[in-house]
Amino acid sequence: MLETLPFANFVPGWARALRLQPESKVCLAMLPTPLHEWRPPCLEPVGFASCLIKRDDMSGGPDLGGNKVRKLELLLADAKARGCDTILTIGGIQSNHCRATAVAARLVGLDSSLILRVSDQHASDISDIGFGGNLLFGRLAGATVKTVTKRNYSRHGSDALLRVEEARLIAAGKRPYVVPVGGSTALAAWGYLAAVQELLDQLAGRPPIEHIVVACGSGGTATAIALGVRLAGLRTRVHAIAVCDTPEYFYAHAEQCAAELGVDLVEGGAVGLLTVHQGKGTGYGMSTAAELRTLTQTAAATGVTLDSTYTGKALHAFAELACAAPELFRETNVLFWHTGGAVGDAGGTLSGALAPMMPAGQVAPLLLADGIPGPE
Ligand SMILES: *Cc1c(COP(=O)(O)O)cnc(C)c1O
Repeated sequence: MLETLPFANFVPGWARALRLQPESKVCLAMLPTPLHEWRPPCLEPVGFASCLIKRDDMSGGPDLGGNKVRKLELLLADAKARGCDTILTIGGIQSNHCRATAVAARLVGLDSSLILRVSDQHASDISDIGFGGNLLFGRLAGATVKTVTKRNYSRHGSDALLRVEEARLIAAGKRPYVVPVGGSTALAAWGYLAAVQELLDQLAGRPPIEHIVVACGSGGTATAIALGVRLAGLRTRVHAIAVCDTPEYFYAHAEQCAAELGVDLVEGGAVGLLTVHQGKGTGYGMSTAAELRTLTQTAAATGVTLDSTYTGKALHAFAELACAAPELFRETNVLFWHTGGAVGDAGGTLSGALAPMMPAGQVAPLLLADGIPGPE
């Protein structure tokens, strides 16, 4: 059942002094998410003592799963407590965040309104966005979709666009609750503070983790994991792999989030809290053949599906930097935090790039000899 529980039960002991503690959470995610050993071929040459994966891709079904649901548990509880009736948020055309928001909102009885960024050519025929990947679930859950061109998105910024649609919803008699891009507010950070405690409970009795690797898109997940690690007193380094923007942008985000929560970063600031690596390759949402090869080899060897926009890029970029400096990582324990996202690739847009990477003869007609008996 979708219970709403007091959040006090989920506040880790080391986080009690922080500000903006949520009142309650809606139970949307399947927790704890699995933790297991994992040996992706791209990390083999580094010589890690162990490699674990935290499966937040399994925090829900394809409609709700991924990292956003831990944030939405808090954001939607807050929206309900404030008497709002519509969740308004923004993202790319294949936004995992918008898809999960639409589904989660409907699950708790709220409407959703999504602003989705489309390519400048696409904008002239918006009836054409289709039902591929994330759009299937968001549209089936009844989200209202407004499109905005990339040009207008970068000209005005996501916050100004949200304010435009917020005013329109209010004028139409709605009570909107505005969720910024990626759901990365200080309130939502509590979702990943609690997730760090969940991980610590799962790790009990195991050797400590020296490195955590996580994809970074709006910065909320990596920041909250790093804050949790710091406050819990661990000596784990958090490596945030940026798939858009710049490391400076994410350090600024981390500093702002820490300030809002009342964490004094003292010496080192955000750079002392986590390490942000550039991992966007040729650009947000664009894949190189090498990145896709990491994704296909990982799936073929381990059975774990990464996505092309976030987790595949994160593993690829981390493997490159670790292989370039193995002396920094040899004999350490590493954890890859899988944040989901494979649904975004389920629209088939990668077919042309993936087909040549599959084993020869993977697909062939079933050979039928003469004389096979008929049914019954
Ligand atoms: C949104 C997202 C991220 C990035 O999380 P942020 O908190 O926005 O940095 C990583 N992986 C996937 C699959 C995502 O959908």
